[in-house]
Parts: sequence; structure tokens; C-alpha cells
Amino acid sequence: MILNHVRLIRELSSGISTESGFVRVEKDMITEVSDRPYPLADETAVNTNIGNTEDIDMVDCKGKTLIPGLIDLHTHITVLNQVGFNCLHSDMELLTTAAEHAAHYLDMGFTTIRDCGSIHRVANEVKHMAQIGLIEAPDLITCGRAVMPTEGSEDHIMAQHVHFADTVDEVRKAARQEIAEGADFLKVFTSGAAAVATSVPEQSIMFPEEIRAAVETAERKGRYVAAHCHGDNAVRNSILAGVRTIEHATLISDETLELAAVQGAYLIPTLAVMHISDGPRKDYWEKRLGPMFRHCTEKMAKAYEMGLYLGFGTDCAAGDFCYDNGIEFRFRRENCGMKDLDILLQCTRNNAVIAGIEDRVGMIRKGMSADLILVDGKPDLDIRCMYHRPKLVMKRGKIVRRM
Ligand SMILES: [Zn+2]
Ligand SMILES: [Zn+2]
Repeated sequence: MILNHVRLIRELSSGISTESGFVRVEKDMITEVSDRPYPLADETAVNTNIGNTEDIDMVDCKGKTLIPGLIDLHTHITVLNQVGFNCLHSDMELLTTAAEHAAHYLDMGFTTIRDCGSIHRVANEVKHMAQIGLIEAPDLITCGRAVMPTEGSEDHIMAQHVHFADTVDEVRKAARQEIAEGADFLKVFTSGAAAVATSVPEQSIMFPEEIRAAVETAERKGRYVAAHCHGDNAVRNSILAGVRTIEHATLISDETLELAAVQGAYLIPTLAVMHISDGPRKDYWEKRLGPMFRHCTEKMAKAYEMGLYLGFGTDCAAGDFCYDNGIEFRFRRENCGMKDLDILLQCTRNNAVIAGIEDRVGMIRKGMSADLILVDGKPDLDIRCMYHRPKLVMKRGKIVRRM
């Protein structure tokens, strides 16, 4: 297939910049990227090398911008928006619900997502179904259940997607179990959670040696650890223990930002999850999340100025208000003062590097997976066009969304 008359952005197309080029896709791979339009059949007379173009599947993209499929490094295909909570009685129903929900990420152009903890480890199964082509869904990077010290009772609804572990030995065992069940990385909770009323985000809930036990167990199996952390102490402990991705980093201090820079830990801010919508509990959430949001946006603006390699997460569910209105893009632009092109790089190239999948996705280049989206506008110059659905979404060489 030829995607013709595409606008390409230098930073995302390995140096090729053009207002009208073409990208060739064969099976599930990108096999050619050109800064010139593909010669059409009636032009072949002047170039005999082109041969017969009649039977080539061609899409005229009319100068719209082609970028790599987006990557969300922090979401959950269950749990968020209560997805899956009503089918705890049936693993079959949970699986179909999770698979159906995973497909919605394609609507906004997300072709790779990292699930940071799922009910009954269902994301591991959805990942497998997508890999073998049984369902249409983004590629998933999964951790099974998230490892967490006892923070609530076993029958609490949130307990369905966590693996309680206290002491170094229990953390090791939980980590080994999650890896044995198919985890690509380990997720731990090193601070309290913002979304659980009884939990205190400022509190450090894991001991440094427990975090270290998770990191060592992961590294032995070629994995890394992602740590949910809001409080500055939890962020600091996580970085010092060797955690690779710091999730949220909400209440991080200037000193800890410096530490992250020195240690090379990646920050994955998830600003959209702190968006407060109108509703009966608006005041409660404003009081709880408002100060966290203001602190976080101020520090992420600072991290950006310092040149930290920032990732892109949402902690929101595809299909919800935040996803469908590009709230994560908006907050980074309006509240953190990040440049349009840099935000675009965060959700493509940066995320691919952070997740260690940059040899397959995150860039338009020969030999990369054909995960591509066509955008109406110039997102590198004005990111606001990313607040809406892309015109076309291609996943592994197949057009899965078109409008
Ligand atoms: Zn979290
Ligand atoms: Zn999360």
C-alpha cells in the first residue's frame, strides 16, 4: 500500500521533511519513505522505472500530516472508569469487556499502550489475543497485577488489580509470580493513591529495601520497574532503588528533579487524570487534586526546562472525556508551557525509547512496524489538532479507523 501526498515531520521521519511525500507499507512493515509524491499511472510515461502502478493499493492523503501511532505509557484497560468491576464473577466476561475496551484506544490514534495493572491480570491475555491477530487492539505492554503493600482489605474492589506484598521476601515472590504470569515489566506502588479516599498520596508506603527487591528481581529477568509515586519521598526512594519509570511524580521537589536527571530515571507525568469534571463530588476532588495538579504542572514545566526526557501517560480510559478531548495534550501545552513538537515527541519517540521498543515503533522509518496515523493539521506547529480523532489509523499495516 502507498500512502501518497503525506506531509512528514523531520524529527519523526528520520530526517525526512516534506509537504508531499509517500510512505510504502508492505504487510505490517514500512518499506519505503520518500520526500516526493509517488508518481501516478499517467506519469509513468516519463519514468519507465516505475512500472505498473495500476494494481497498487493507494491512499491519497492530500497533504495531511503522517505521524507514528501514539503511545500511552500509563493507562489501564480495566479499573479506570470502573471497567471490569461489574464482571468480577466471570473471567470470560471480564476478558471480552477488557478486549472491547482496549480497541477504543485506536480511536484516538494510540497504537501502543502500557497497562499499569489489570483486574485478574486480564491485560496479559488481551495482549496475547492482539499479538495473534484475534482482536483489533493496540500493542499492549503489561505488568499483570501491580505489587502493593497492604493498603486496604482483600475484599476492597481496588484489590482486584493489585498483588499485596509486605516484606522483602513477599515482594520478591510477588514479582516472580507476575513475571511468570507474563508481565513485561513490574509495577509497584511506592506511595499512597490519589483516587482511593482512604489512601494518602503524600505517604511513602514501601520500604527502600522492598523497592530494591522488586528492581533486582525484575532485572534478573530482563525487566524493569515502574513505580506509582506521588509524594516526594516515594519518588526519591524509587529513583535511588533503580526504578526505571516514575509514574505521576506529582509532588516531586526541585532536589528530586535533579536526582532524576543524574540517575537517568524517566518521569511519566499523568496530568489528565487530575482533570476535575462537573459532578456532585466536584468540591471534594478540587480540594484533594487541585493542589496536587498545580504542584505537578509547575514541576513538570521545570523538568521540561531542565531538558529531562519526559514520557507521556494519561491514567485515563479510552473513550472518556479526557481521552476524547486530548486533555493530556492540553495540560502539557497550556499548564506546562511545552512546545508543540516536544509534546508530539513525548507521545511517540520518547515513549518508545523509555519502553525500550524504539526498534519497532515511535518513528516513521524503513523497517519499522506500520503503525501510522494521519492528522488533519500540523501537530508539530500546533498540537491542538491532536485534541480530535485522526483521519486515519493504521495498525500493523491495516487501516483500522478512517473518517
Ligand atoms: Zn498510580
Ligand atoms: Zn494508574
